[in-house]
Amino acid sequence: MSAKILIVDDDPAVRDSIYEFLSIMDYQAFSASSAEEAMAFLRDKHMDVIITDIIMSGMDGLELSSYIKNHYDSDVIVITGYTGDYTYEEAVNKGADDFIFKPIKFEELQLRLKRVLRERHLTQERTMILEQLKELAITDDLTKLFNTRHFYNQIEQEINRYRRYKRPFSILLLDVDHFKHFNDTYGHLEGDRILRRVARMITSCMRTMDTAYRYGGEEFTVLLPETTCEDAITVAERIKDNINSETLDYIDDTQVTVSIGATEYSETDSISDLVKRADHAMYIAKKRGRNRIAHLLPERSAV
Ligand code: GH3
Ligand code: MG
Ligand code: MG
Repeated sequence: MSAKILIVDDDPAVRDSIYEFLSIMDYQAFSASSAEEAMAFLRDKHMDVIITDIIMSGMDGLELSSYIKNHYDSDVIVITGYTGDYTYEEAVNKGADDFIFKPIKFEELQLRLKRVLRERHLTQERTMILEQLKELAITDDLTKLFNTRHFYNQIEQEINRYRRYKRPFSILLLDVDHFKHFNDTYGHLEGDRILRRVARMITSCMRTMDTAYRYGGEEFTVLLPETTCEDAITVAERIKDNINSETLDYIDDTQVTVSIGATEYSETDSISDLVKRADHAMYIAKKRGRNRIAHLLPERSAV
């Protein structure tokens, strides 16, 4: 797709000639006769580059540049005369990315535009790569759930939120039952498929504010903000029943089950106290026969 470019100039002759030129160069050109008109236009349409005259009646081109830079992800080229009304520095401080001088030479305009668009493209690529890297750093490769590192970071955030607003939160720790047996019977690859499937079933049962993590081998955690232990158990029941109700049709009638430990954060907990308590609750669920939920409240009484 060719770049979208808005020309802002109160002189119709300049405006129209730049418009013509950009259209011939196969850019998508648009025009506005004042800064105010340009602002209204930008509310509805995203532009890659805005080319604006500086001296215009009403808001001037430098104020417009500053407005655009504060509100949109667009580049700005200002058109300037050789008068000494404003300095290069002033224009750059207002956010202008480049200049062209009056009278406008189209070869120069083309060079400036190409440079701005090339840099814009490079910046966008860099941002995309950075975002991908950030995502990779918090994602579990096998299941595409968040990883343990992110789990600990998010718990820390929740504890901070608790300190400020005293909002409850809970966690679930899930462990697949007899998973070693699956691996031994059907092979490691089939085991991996089960883990991916369990991950999908967990996320399908969560509410939008909850987040799921692969906590290690065949263990998962769910972080439930704004949730008491009692409500966390309801979510846990839904996850357990959903996983339990699905037979893995590609392996006879084999059923996967999980044991879940639930607990709520208490003011005196360290991160490790909280996770250990959820782990302890999960262990109790295992001991009671698996495919069930146990919870532990901070005072450590198993229920
Ligand atoms: P329990 O009901 O007590 O939890 O029994 P279990 O067999 O699930 O428990 P155990 O901790 O003895 O075994 C966990 C197994 O999970 C052993 C390990 O080979 C398997 N495992 C861990 N990570 C992966 C993985 O990424 N892929 C596969 N396929 N298996 C894994
Ligand atoms: Mg385990
Ligand atoms: Mg297990």
